[in-house]
Amino acid sequence: MLPASRDLMRAINQFNVLNTIRTAGSISRTKLSEITGQSRASVTNITARLIAENLIYEKETRDSAHRGRRRVLLALNADAAYVVGIKLSAFRVSFAVTDMQADIRSSIVMPVRTSERSAGFVADLIEEGIRHCVNDARLKMDQIAGIGIGVPGFVDRNNGFCHWTPLYRQGKRPLRDLVEKRLGIPTTLENDANAVTMAHQWFGDGMGVQNFVVITIEDGVGMGAVVNGQLYRGAKGVGAEFGHVVVVPGGNPCRCGKRGCLEAYVSDFSILAAARKIWADTRGEGPPRGELNLDDVMDAARRGHPELVRLFDRAGKLLGQGVAGLIQILNPSKIILSGQGVRAGDLMFAPMRAVVAAQCNPVLHDATEIIIHKWQDTDWARGAASLVLQALYKTPFEKIRPVI
Ligand SMILES: [Zn+2]
Repeated sequence: MLPASRDLMRAINQFNVLNTIRTAGSISRTKLSEITGQSRASVTNITARLIAENLIYEKETRDSAHRGRRRVLLALNADAAYVVGIKLSAFRVSFAVTDMQADIRSSIVMPVRTSERSAGFVADLIEEGIRHCVNDARLKMDQIAGIGIGVPGFVDRNNGFCHWTPLYRQGKRPLRDLVEKRLGIPTTLENDANAVTMAHQWFGDGMGVQNFVVITIEDGVGMGAVVNGQLYRGAKGVGAEFGHVVVVPGGNPCRCGKRGCLEAYVSDFSILAAARKIWADTRGEGPPRGELNLDDVMDAARRGHPELVRLFDRAGKLLGQGVAGLIQILNPSKIILSGQGVRAGDLMFAPMRAVVAAQCNPVLHDATEIIIHKWQDTDWARGAASLVLQALYKTPFEKIRPVI
């Protein structure tokens, strides 16, 4: 590696200080110096700059362990900036306005079909949703520092377009540019699972964890991997596409055009399609086939509908096969399962865990904690907001290129 330039070193030091304050909640300068390994003088300089920029502030407390002595702690100014996160799905668009700590100030969901629509139509929807959501948060548009959009598919973040997405039809101009032009606010487009992974790394179960994987189960099956503290992007910048690993050669058709992808068995979309077919064949009690939704399917499976139980069991086993492979290859400390699909619970995750235990070497298996994340509807949009927050924390790591 080449030696880092002075500017880069300064950026890294400043980022480390800000990041340590964010992680700690509130912290003294002495403790900051201990944790970051920087001198007291350097910490004093950096924190003075951050206070001047209004990113952090000083707060006084009384130290009960030392006869109520006055202590000055540093804390993040949550109101230093606001961002909007957006998640595009096949049948809805979710929005969230968050502050500097990724806490949600307002959120809305627009139930509208985005698949097969033009990029211009989707950009209009996004503009409308953002204006509503910002208004709901009692903020003005000029207080919004950035917009993050999470999209399923193969996304080129640098250029703001998708190599492939199951949603909107792409035109000549990338969606990111269309949104930026309408609102005049810097916009980032990112794969939705990567966005959720970054939210976990910055504000969730992945905080302080160097190696972990997030798997999202929804209409599709996505994945983000953090390796040595960095989001893994791969040669094309597309990163990990776990959902499109073929697990059943020649199997069910997938939305990507191949057959037998994991997504074609595990995603909400594929489970619902298979359940509707079973429903039609067995004339199960309950709603007509066309109106059957995923909650109906899960309820019927929990009541013991044998074919539906088998459907989730097969999905869980195939997912387990994929997860076991990830554990063998990456040896992550955590695998976090997230997304609406986690509602399936033990129907899917009990068979998954059994296959993971059977297919992993015990040492690797025991080194990985599998977490089923309690899902909230705003998680996707919050993930997209985290994309922008990272830039506001001035992370220098985006600028570092490995030199071999
Ligand atoms: Zn596929």
